[in-house]
Amino acid sequence: MSKPLLAALLGGLALVTALPAAALTPWQQLTHPVAGSPQSIGSYANGCIVGARPLPLQSPDYQVMRPDQRRYFGHPHLLDFIGRLSNQAHRRGLGTVLIGDMGMAAGGRFSSGHASHQSGLDVDIWLQLPTQRWTPQQLLKPQPIDLVAVDGKQVVRRHWQPQVAQLIKMAAEDNQVARIFVNAAIKKQLCADAGSDRAWLNKVRPWFAHRAHMHVRLYCPPDSLECQDQAPPPPGDGCGAELESWFLPPKPSTGKPGKAVPPPLPPSCQALLDNHFGE
Ligand SMILES: [Zn+2]
Repeated sequence: MSKPLLAALLGGLALVTALPAAALTPWQQLTHPVAGSPQSIGSYANGCIVGARPLPLQSPDYQVMRPDQRRYFGHPHLLDFIGRLSNQAHRRGLGTVLIGDMGMAAGGRFSSGHASHQSGLDVDIWLQLPTQRWTPQQLLKPQPIDLVAVDGKQVVRRHWQPQVAQLIKMAAEDNQVARIFVNAAIKKQLCADAGSDRAWLNKVRPWFAHRAHMHVRLYCPPDSLECQDQAPPPPGDGCGAELESWFLPPKPSTGKPGKAVPPPLPPSCQALLDNHFGE
């Protein structure tokens, strides 16, 4: 690439970053749920939701972080799950459950950050359980605790709380939960500590990042007829070769990396946008 061309491109980029609104997806401009009976539509990474509900911001059992971002919407099943899990955690004296991003009011794609969280069935829950409730200021600028060592191979012992392992296990044992994503080093620690009760580990999947939070994903609600479930994880606790493969040096890549073009929207989600913004 010639230098002037590169400079022109970089200049263009600077212009784009100076105008963040230009980068928003249409979904980020839908600030209220679409009226209707709750329906999760499409897949976790390409979908939307009708009839989403806001998670109540006041609860004795959990606190909602970054409420100013308005990413606290979801299918009623997701709200119920958060209520169940955090109530159980509270009753067991584990601490306050910290709720991160759920989805936007109508679900859909974010301009950056999450690939999924689109159909109202995903929630990020932080892997720390404060015994004192956070102040509104702390909730607006929450400080994550990185649980994974710099080499990525194990958890940081001084940050690892047994209560966090209990929280992940409780979430995995919930029968509405399809999958939980955590960093491979966190999964490794759970595998090491689990003892003979291991069936729940099947749903806990190693994934990139996720060093300070777990991402919990629910099954499609049975009456959401256009919702696409993911294939179930392979059988077993996932603690053997599959987990070990996360700690091997990366293989040289064969193709050139590029940003994938998003797939077409499910027709019902496209119709929803057409309806709102005009065709
Ligand atoms: Zn997530």
